[in-house]
Amino acid sequence: MNIAILSGKGGTGKTTVAASLAVSLSNSQYIDCDVEEPNGALFLNPKIESTAPVKVPVPHVDGEKCNGCGICSKTCRFNAMAVIKGKVVIFPEICHHCGACVIACPQNAITEEQREIGVIEADGEGLFLQGRLNIGEPITIPIINELKQMVRPDAPVFLDCAPGASCTAVQSIEGCDFCILVTEPTPFGLHDLKIAVALVRKMGIPFGVVINKAMEHDRSIQEYCKNENIEVLMEIPYLREIAENYSKGVLPAQINNEWKERFVGLYDKIKGGVAS
Ligand code: SF4
Ligand code: SF4
Repeated sequence: MNIAILSGKGGTGKTTVAASLAVSLSNSQYIDCDVEEPNGALFLNPKIESTAPVKVPVPHVDGEKCNGCGICSKTCRFNAMAVIKGKVVIFPEICHHCGACVIACPQNAITEEQREIGVIEADGEGLFLQGRLNIGEPITIPIINELKQMVRPDAPVFLDCAPGASCTAVQSIEGCDFCILVTEPTPFGLHDLKIAVALVRKMGIPFGVVINKAMEHDRSIQEYCKNENIEVLMEIPYLREIAENYSKGVLPAQINNEWKERFVGLYDKIKGGVAS
């Protein structure tokens, strides 16, 4: 079962929930899809045993064959090519690797060459995976796609997504069985939860909410979920004990057996089909 953990905004406790599920369920797979800033390893301490480059094809122009006609730059929908004074200029960072310019060139002057944009790191068993985008690269999708090809069919899989509702998050949750939306009882938390809810509803993926830093005096998230008929799957209270342990890299599920059982129960609840 593939469960994506996402949030409308950063800092709500998405990795706390994803990593807590991973440590609570034996032989589960944790995949850090937050490729611009993966941080699950800080809590899970995996022994990284393999690093594989992620490469994408980008166009290369043969100056001998090119006549400067400009058809390639007119074809590119992403403005990744320009023809200036008869010479083709390529902006590889914003190329979306569609290959349209290669097909369009009447002189057959364009070929593709491979360009590394990041890496995938894994432990020995492939139960911990993380993508890491090279600094300055703007396009994350190829790394997400490669990570998702490594999903184990025989294990509970937890995909720790990038915050927000960007295409990185969309690509990460695509095809997942369930989404956990992690939020916190603040105006920003509620605002961005609504965006995440709109996203998963549009994609037709079952989902539920986990409230992190839950406080008795603020029931705004619970009220919103009640009005929207959304299941609140778990509340993690705003406790000093949890915050202190977190600051030392200790997850709630590692504090004691009771918390671990709560995360096992969260997984069982989702698996049992208690979903919105
Ligand atoms: S379409 Fe081909 S020939 Fe025309 S400018 Fe582009 S690379 Fe050169
Ligand atoms: S491969 Fe596609 S996105 Fe990249 S430069 Fe060519 S047309 Fe543009």
